[in-house]
Amino acid sequence: MNEQDKQQKHQQRQQKLKEKVDERIAAATDDKGLLLVITGNGKGKSTSGFGVVTRSVGHGLKAAVCQFIKGTWECGERNLLEKAGVPFYVMKTGFTWETQNKEQDIAAAEVVWQQAKKLLSDPSINTVLLDELTYMLSYRYLDIDEVLTTIANRPQGQHVVVTGRAAHRRLIEMADTVSEVQSIKHAFDAGIKVQKGIDW
Ligand code: ATP
Ligand code: MG
Repeated sequence: MNEQDKQQKHQQRQQKLKEKVDERIAAATDDKGLLLVITGNGKGKSTSGFGVVTRSVGHGLKAAVCQFIKGTWECGERNLLEKAGVPFYVMKTGFTWETQNKEQDIAAAEVVWQQAKKLLSDPSINTVLLDELTYMLSYRYLDIDEVLTTIANRPQGQHVVVTGRAAHRRLIEMADTVSEVQSIKHAFDAGIKVQKGIDW
């Protein structure tokens, strides 16, 4: 096959592909608020969730963030997004890897969850990030039936992003889009400490 034939074949293939993609775009006509779940052991779940929030804000949409872990850590996204009018609700004294006081952890989770419930019933909020919510379900700090029902009954058109490892099977079933971030390698395993602007 000469160069010209090769080029023609390539063009034909691309044209076919384009037609297929166009067909799928034309068929995707539904419009609704999505539930996204970003799970897995690799790095990039929360940064992805904050990426969605940033994207929403960039379009002038209203977004809010609930964080179910790491209350006292500084958070680069928070410093920026609060200035852009995004409210943050963060677990305060409660859950960290070190705490032993389960009752206190549950109470702290419940406070943020009550804020989340308000957001999930407010049609003026376009996008809600529930960062690290998965742990609250796997540790049974929050009632899964209540959480799933609240998410299911949220205002039509509202998008929700849930992040965290080991997402519950029922959450995955309910979600529209689920991504699993796989860890290939992580700097921490090579003895490098957490880096400002990369890890927080
Ligand atoms: P990020 O906030 O950077 O997107 P993440 O949300 O995917 O990370 P988490 O499980 O919430 O990951 O953990 C948060 C912290 O743990 C971050 O400092 C992150 O760099 C670190 N981390 C994430 N994945 C790994 C891993 N596979 N090994 C070691 N540390 C990790
Ligand atoms: Mg995270």
